[in-house]
Amino acid sequence: MSATDDFLANNAEYAGSFDQADLPIPPAKKVAVLACMDARLDPAKVLGLHEGDAHVIRNAGGVATDDALRSLTISQRLLGTEEIVLIHHTGCGMESFEDDDLKDQIQTDTGIRPGFSFEAFSDADEDVKHTAARIRASPFVPHKNIRGFVYDVETGKLREVPLG
Ligand SMILES: [Zn+2]
Repeated sequence: MSATDDFLANNAEYAGSFDQADLPIPPAKKVAVLACMDARLDPAKVLGLHEGDAHVIRNAGGVATDDALRSLTISQRLLGTEEIVLIHHTGCGMESFEDDDLKDQIQTDTGIRPGFSFEAFSDADEDVKHTAARIRASPFVPHKNIRGFVYDVETGKLREVPLG
């Protein structure tokens, strides 16, 4: 049995009591969350979100990559969200390497140097600010109502980062 086989059994149970069939597509809270993909961080639990409440966009670091900006643009322009919540966290894997070191290693292993940035960072607070600044600089995302947080994986608490 793979983990995926376990998930399918879990899903059969979930679908057996499913009662979310009539939710509208636009998020009820008009919020998009951009969060790190870290397995210890569950934005729905941390924020008390339910199905239909918010868009949750995740990647390594919770970084405002071009693809995150693509999703935020769709979220706001087509689906009515007006607020953005950024969540980085303590002990992030993105603080444990340098972009160039990982690119060197991959180039040695494969002969190909990735053309994209891994967006490693050394300070979660600073990267929350950097992420907010990138979103503010995007001409495609109309609503700049952004708040940023660092989630503490040891206490479960969110700490707000002043974005200035
Ligand atoms: Zn992380």
